[in-house]
Amino acid sequence: MDDLADAVAAALDTTPTHAADILTRLTNAGWELTRITRPHARTLAEAFAQRTQDAGNGHLDWTGFRDRDGRPRYQVAGTAWTGMRLAWATTRTRPPDGNVRADCDHPGCVAPEHLTDRRDRDLTRAVLGTPRRRARPA
Ligand SMILES: [Zn+2]
Repeated sequence: MDDLADAVAAALDTTPTHAADILTRLTNAGWELTRITRPHARTLAEAFAQRTQDAGNGHLDWTGFRDRDGRPRYQVAGTAWTGMRLAWATTRTRPPDGNVRADCDHPGCVAPEHLTDRRDRDLTRAVLGTPRRRARPA
C-alpha cells in the first residue's frame, strides 16, 4: 500500500500520509483497490520503466503483460507493441527495420542497448562477416 499511497500522493499533489488515509477510508468503505497497480504512464519511457526490472549485467526483464505465447506486450493507443519495440522507441530515433530482438545471452532481455533490428544485424554481419543468427523466441 505504501507504493500506491506514494503514487496517489504524487497524482493528487498531497502528502503520502494523506493519500494513505484516503486509501484506508476508501478500503473501509468497501472500495476494491487491488486493481490499482501503477500510475498511468505519461511517456513510453515511463511505461517501459514501469514494466521492467534490472536483471544484472545491464540486462532487463519484462515484468508487464505477456501474450499467450509469453511475448512481452504493451497496448498503447489501440496498438499492441512488443516489449522490444517499446524499448526501441524509448531510445532510438528511427523506427525499427524488421524484428527487434536481444542480441545478448539473457533470455527475454529487453534492455534497449542489447536490442538490434534487421538493419543493425545486417550491418554487423557486413562489417564482421559473421553468419546469420537464428531468431530466438523472446
Ligand atoms: Zn541483455
